[in-house]
Amino acid sequence: MESIIKNYDLDRLSIATVASHTALQLLRAARRYGFNTIAIAKPGTAWFYRQFNFINEVLEVEFSDFESVIDYLVRRNSLLIPHGSYVEYVGWRRALSMPIPTLGNRYLIKWEADQKLKMKLLEHAGIPTPRTYEDANAVDGPVIVKLYGAKGGRGYFIARDRDELGKKLGNVKEPFIIQEYVIGVPAYYHYFTSKIHNRVEIMGMDIRYESNVDGRTLDLAEPTFVVVGNLPMVIRESLLPTVQRYGEQFTKAVNELVPPGMIGPFSLESIIKDDMSIVVFEFSGRIVAGTNVYMGIGSPYSTLYFDRPMDMGERIALEVREALDKGRILDIVT
Ligand code: AMP
Repeated sequence: MESIIKNYDLDRLSIATVASHTALQLLRAARRYGFNTIAIAKPGTAWFYRQFNFINEVLEVEFSDFESVIDYLVRRNSLLIPHGSYVEYVGWRRALSMPIPTLGNRYLIKWEADQKLKMKLLEHAGIPTPRTYEDANAVDGPVIVKLYGAKGGRGYFIARDRDELGKKLGNVKEPFIIQEYVIGVPAYYHYFTSKIHNRVEIMGMDIRYESNVDGRTLDLAEPTFVVVGNLPMVIRESLLPTVQRYGEQFTKAVNELVPPGMIGPFSLESIIKDDMSIVVFEFSGRIVAGTNVYMGIGSPYSTLYFDRPMDMGERIALEVREALDKGRILDIVT
């Protein structure tokens, strides 16, 4: 990436992202910070993104052919911002080798794609995680079964006990992990690890709105966790130091295990139990869609760092701008 960026005209940097997920938030903020903005859309969705004047260019491409826009993006001095839909559309293997400077540490995508590596990283960070069962016969309470490759909560199911688990596993053909089902409320924390300010910031938090756990199912349907939206949240202030500590521990673990370390946005996904302990079952090593709840307004926590509210898109754009000013753009891309 270094040789690509050496040929860039850094006064004419573009910010590019896939037109879905957090694209509106990211591109709106990038435009406000003076960057050229590019949305890369699937055929059929470009029209929607064309109506927003903060998006300078909308490219339309089949994602099976994503590489065909790379030359153009490089000519436009682009940094690509990865998000969940980009990884889903192109696949994590292609995302790892995509020949375009990518904001953040793209190697984390591989850790995120593998349920076992994912838990290993959280454990290395010393963050409490749900118990994982290697053997279905060892199960002694409620569990959640996660199929590899499950997306957005689709492909998970819960079992009350070992007997129910045995029956439900009979139909499963794909690889999966069995995890303790932690009882409590979900909370998802949005962090930003700044290379420029050398700190971990809590940028906000959200909860998810999931179809058949939050829906009016009236006991008529099995619980499913398909995410349809997100809601803002704040937590008891007495829990914030723990949230901060987990963010710092996670950043340290990534710095140790996944060079070049944590860069920019990430999220920890947790259940808070009724004894106020926080158990983390998942991370995302990039911007999460829950940050959209603060688009254009910023979260209450974001105010604490810059004395003005800031959404995650703006936080990223600010880091890019400051990195450019300090000649440190190579520190924030892989
Ligand atoms: P995910 O797609 O991994 O974020 O998980 C989807 C949903 O499943 C989460 O929003 C949680 O509500 C729930 N969940 C996942 N893992 C656990 C767990 N170990 N214990 C309790 N709930 C969980």
